[in-house]
Amino acid sequence: MKLESMKCPECNSPISFENGQDYVFCSHCGVQIFKNDETQKIVVNKVIRKIDEARIKEAEVKKEIRTKEIEQEDRKDRRKYKSIFVKIGIVLALIIVIFSAYGIWKIYDYFNEQKMLSQGMIRVPNSSIGYQAQNYEVVKKQLEELGFVDIETIDLNDLKGWQKYVVTVGENDIQSVTIAGKEFKRGSYFKPTDKVIISYH
Ligand SMILES: [Zn+2]
Repeated sequence: MKLESMKCPECNSPISFENGQDYVFCSHCGVQIFKNDETQKIVVNKVIRKIDEARIKEAEVKKEIRTKEIEQEDRKDRRKYKSIFVKIGIVLALIIVIFSAYGIWKIYDYFNEQKMLSQGMIRVPNSSIGYQAQNYEVVKKQLEELGFVDIETIDLNDLKGWQKYVVTVGENDIQSVTIAGKEFKRGSYFKPTDKVIISYH
């Protein structure tokens, strides 16, 4: 294989034609170089290089766009994770606030109870609604044991005949309990001398 060596007319880099080859590309500047054996002249085709440059440019632009897209996606991901962390933080903060508030209330309630009990007050373990439909004698005994001294029971005697066996509320079940003339919530405080009125069916 015969090699014919010469220089690139564009950039002066060494180029070589193999035997019978019509053209080569300069490995340095990329132009296409034609050789005419009859005239012994070489012709440079710059158009091919310009196309290559255009392709290189296009590839560079694509690469740049892709890089920007990746950066944008990264930013989006970071924002997403950030917002997830913020949400988790808010939920944790709320949980801490709720537990703290509950703890503070429990501590306050404990000391308040000690104070009230030391003043001779009675704390009722149930509400007037909670006592409904319970047997009046059982509840009366409970309230007596808590320390109430003035308990009045009223027999409404309002279940007639068949009702005693059908209705969900039976004979001797409580219809209402009031202390000091009013209904009450669970955990309310009363004096032992406050009047308790239990009415039952
Ligand atoms: Zn060249």
